[in-house]
Amino acid sequence: METWQKLLQASITRPADLTRRFGIDSRPLEEVAERYPMRVNPYYLSLIKSAGDPIWRQAVPSAEELTDFTCPEDPLEEENQSPVPNLVHRYPDRVLFLVCSECAMYCRFCTRKRKVGGEEMAITRTSIEEGLAYIRSRPEIRDVILSGGDPLLLSDERLEEILKALRAIPTVEIIRIGTRIPVVLPQRITPALVRVLRRHHPLYINTHFNHPDEITESSSRACARLADAGIPLGNQTVLLRGVNDDPSTMKRLMQKLLAIRVKPYYIYQADMVKGTDHFRTSVEEGLEIVRALRGHTSGMASPAYVIDAPGGGGKIPLLPDYLQNLGENVVLKNYLGESYTYRNPPRPAEAEESRRVVNAHP
Ligand SMILES: *Cc1c(COP(=O)(O)O)cnc(C)c1O
Ligand code: SF4
Repeated sequence: METWQKLLQASITRPADLTRRFGIDSRPLEEVAERYPMRVNPYYLSLIKSAGDPIWRQAVPSAEELTDFTCPEDPLEEENQSPVPNLVHRYPDRVLFLVCSECAMYCRFCTRKRKVGGEEMAITRTSIEEGLAYIRSRPEIRDVILSGGDPLLLSDERLEEILKALRAIPTVEIIRIGTRIPVVLPQRITPALVRVLRRHHPLYINTHFNHPDEITESSSRACARLADAGIPLGNQTVLLRGVNDDPSTMKRLMQKLLAIRVKPYYIYQADMVKGTDHFRTSVEEGLEIVRALRGHTSGMASPAYVIDAPGGGGKIPLLPDYLQNLGENVVLKNYLGESYTYRNPPRPAEAEESRRVVNAHP
């Protein structure tokens, strides 16, 4: 058995297993773990410094998960936009293809909390075949995002089969993998796995670091292996109350990601997902955090801040109010809050119009 398999097997799945080490009363949490599965492997557990810290909050069930009466189960209406099970086709040229229902850890804030780790998401050989057939039948799909659950929990062989089948579709230009494995179980990024992945370029990986303490020697090594194989690495962070909801933590995270060759891609406003209400921050706080990045550190460390619109509207970018006024004079505010003016040239149609007017009255 490989190291990562042993780590996964040694995962804690019951809150009671935490009581001795952290001295907490785990009884109220047992019910939570029954509703939403818990899985914390010894590697991720080792990153927890004390009960309630940002790593703990992401991994350990909280009683608040059962007292959320605000958020719906599937706010993004993924089920409505699924032409076949486990494939979401929301945008014109790309699809989200769910190929694994398991994760190396069950994040308490997960957007697919309704599906992961349980029986509901039954991803079978048949559902994957159906997904592939759908992609084959739609030549407009040029970008396939493998997601789940975590696709990198599949065996090397199974992953190779899926990647090969996708690469055999000439209209598929790029493949992306969304995975939290480099963060929660970096030991899974083995040389053998990397050999499989690098055979299917252009292949991108988007990972999911949420806190600077998740950037360790092990996760850095995992990302280095992937980057050395020519795989461009992006990161999607979710803005989470009590985890990364302050400007200095977020800035440190973005800077540390660049240092391990991971380019910050998105910061997500937390989705309105049932059982995760206690993680949500206000949009105003999100804008403050984004404002504290742009200009104050490199543009490379300033990802787009987006809300995935409830109702399935897709990702909508949000910007602090840098643009003060449009028109002949564009008034702008820089990162220090100082105003600047840019003289707008007329648009081609307006320029044409004014030339005609001039010619008509010589
Ligand atoms: C996020 C997402 C994508 C990918 O969006 P990009 O902005 O291209 O990264 C595609 N499909 C669905 C359903 C998504 O939620
Ligand atoms: S790894 Fe991703 S899909 Fe799995 S529980 Fe965490 S956030 Fe959800």
